[in-house]
Amino acid sequence: MTESPVEDSISAAAPLVVLSKVNKHYGALHVLQDIDLEIRQGEVVVLIGPSGSGKSTLCRTINRLETIDSGRITIDGHPLPAEGRELARLRTEVGMVFQNFNLFAHKTVLENVVMGQVKVRKVIRSHAEKTARELLDRVGVGAQADKYPAQLSGGQQQRVAIARALAMKPKVMLFDEPTSALDPEMVNEVLEVMRQLAADGMTMVVVTHEMGFARSAANRVLFMADGRIVEQNTPDAFFTAPRSDRAKDFLSKIL
Ligand code: ADP
Ligand code: MG
Repeated sequence: MTESPVEDSISAAAPLVVLSKVNKHYGALHVLQDIDLEIRQGEVVVLIGPSGSGKSTLCRTINRLETIDSGRITIDGHPLPAEGRELARLRTEVGMVFQNFNLFAHKTVLENVVMGQVKVRKVIRSHAEKTARELLDRVGVGAQADKYPAQLSGGQQQRVAIARALAMKPKVMLFDEPTSALDPEMVNEVLEVMRQLAADGMTMVVVTHEMGFARSAANRVLFMADGRIVEQNTPDAFFTAPRSDRAKDFLSKIL
């Protein structure tokens, strides 16, 4: 297998996110089963698998929106803090973008991107506004800064949500089906922003059904089923020659 210089430099970097033997239950449901995963700085990991396989839960454990029952998670060498100021800091290091944007409806676009910087990162307001305007320009919605989220299209709102997460200067960005709630004509404008972020070197975990994005932007595809990582490979190898029956079955339904 030939490796690009980008992949060589990624494999040489220290792991940024490490999950070791992570287990989680919801009552009787064993939703994450002995998950071992290392994500290196600058790596783009696409997580796919059937509905209910645990993809969202896995993402949510990485920024501690969900607790785990056993195992260990570290971000940049530090274990996930349980609570308090340490947890607030961790949340700034792990940005998350959800399916439904989750913007503050009663705040302007600009304020959505300013708030966290001022409240959590303690950045002074004038600096926070400058950063916010730069980020809104970068994701192509600079002209919408003074509007309210409901005045924007879904694609624009999701790009604001990405700018808001980036404003916290995260070390890793988690995307949980960021284009699933969008009208089809808006999917690409959001994927394009994500492709650019990936090209700029952001470490990313992306749950998506957009296999074109997985093929073009991912360094690695993880296939999950029933709370386990069943298979992982480069996108080329995974899509052309999936090994497990579960992955073959899944791909035959979506491709
Ligand atoms: P995916 O994102 O792959 O569709 P999820 O991580 O959302 O899967 O869910 C995995 C399983 O855990 C599903 O069976 C789901 O119903 C269940 N589940 C998710 N969240 C909860 C919760 N808060 N309480 C109980 N069960 C949950
Ligand atoms: Mg999900």
